[in-house]
Amino acid sequence: MDTEPSFVAVLGAGPAGLMAAETIAAAGHAVRVYERMPSPARKLLMAGRGGLNLTHSEPLEAFLTRYAEAMPALAPAIRDFPPQALVAWAEGLGQEMFTGSSGRIFPRALKASPLLRAWLARLESQGVQLLPRHEWRGFTPEGGLRIGAPSGQKVLHPAATVLALGGASWPRLGADGSWAEAMAGVEMRPFRPANMGFRVGWSEIFRRKFEGTPLKRIALSFGGRSVRGEAMITAEGIEGGAIYALSAPLRDAIAAQGHAMLALDLRPDITADDLARKLDEGRRGQSLSTFLRKAANLSPVAIGLVQEALHQGDQRPLSAIVKALSLRLEGVQGLERAISSAGGIALAELDEHFMLRARPGLFAAGEMLDWEAPTGGYLLQACFATGRAAALGAAAWLKGKAG
Ligand SMILES: Cc1cc2nc3c(=O)[nH]c(=O)nc-3n(C[C@H](O)[C@H](O)[C@H](O)COP(=O)(O)OP(=O)(O)OC[C@H]3O[C@@H](n4cnc5c(N)ncnc54)[C@H](O)[C@@H]3O)c2cc1C
Repeated sequence: MDTEPSFVAVLGAGPAGLMAAETIAAAGHAVRVYERMPSPARKLLMAGRGGLNLTHSEPLEAFLTRYAEAMPALAPAIRDFPPQALVAWAEGLGQEMFTGSSGRIFPRALKASPLLRAWLARLESQGVQLLPRHEWRGFTPEGGLRIGAPSGQKVLHPAATVLALGGASWPRLGADGSWAEAMAGVEMRPFRPANMGFRVGWSEIFRRKFEGTPLKRIALSFGGRSVRGEAMITAEGIEGGAIYALSAPLRDAIAAQGHAMLALDLRPDITADDLARKLDEGRRGQSLSTFLRKAANLSPVAIGLVQEALHQGDQRPLSAIVKALSLRLEGVQGLERAISSAGGIALAELDEHFMLRARPGLFAAGEMLDWEAPTGGYLLQACFATGRAAALGAAAWLKGKAG
């Protein structure tokens, strides 16, 4: 049995866990990070593939509303480590940052690997021990941590523990939510995909022609909210930034009614009246696709969508279809490819220092907590900020115990 009194265990080496490790080490504690995968932060590296959107530049009060009902629980941690602090932290690791036209903030390198390399070097210089291939397998009856390692199973009794085991999306990157089984006595919310795609019953011809095609400069509306952006046609349906922005209400509507009707504006930059003038006069012998391309400046995939709607019996004037194409979403894509997950440890289980009320000395941070947010840098911002807050909580708790 490991009885060293003074080390803090961090379980999970994603952004939340590594930020917790950095913060606790800076407070003067020995830190060991246990990670089940052969290398750390695989999801962060994957996030960097499409351009690592670290945070967002919108005013903090607007920023905080993105966490919806989780806002009261997360806001203090984010106010204490706001987007400017995260940007300064990344710059401190040698990453030049820039703000895109959408207000999203990225490292100039776009990838996560240079940032992660510099971060791991800093952690090493702080004396943080990173133990890959070490899997947490639950608690012993006395509250010890059972760890499975290449050298066998061991039980640890750290002075404090920060859980940062992630959510349940993209399980092949390490976080699969299986840790929930070890949380008896702690209220858990079921994992659900967040920021994910949806299933659409495309015709075979549309699927074959347009799978993998981006749908650019569109606006989507659902439940009184509209977003502009891009989406991507997939074999099963539709995904991408604009879809993710509405994915929480769409997911909940599908859970309640079995489907959801999403409205697509294929020409958001032109008014309905102007478009009607262009389209409602008639085709004058042109094929439908030539007419839509010339008169409405629609892309082939947008024309394909209009044709799908017509085949399904939409009898409105063409201009009405282009301005509010009705897409029936028939299901939610699974956790395997969702950007993030909702669900996890109920926030009411935590005190204001991210310590589990039922288990003094045990803290939790990151995506394993029950909150969700749209893409735009809000996910990583909350993971970094809660990782730091939980670590500060652990350091304060240890100080209180010591004296
Ligand atoms: C494709 C993709 C793109 C994304 N892009 C962005 C983006 O641009 N901006 C943004 O803000 N967010 C993005 N995200 C989301 C973001 O990456 C996650 O929200 C974030 O990584 C969660 O951090 P975390 O530390 O809580 O969990 P994770 O990063 O999942 O880390 C948890 C760690 O715990 C380990 N672990 C799990 N169980 C155990 C166990 N039993 N024992 C030991 N270790 C264990 C896992 O292996 C993992 O390394 C993206 C996600 C995906 C999948």
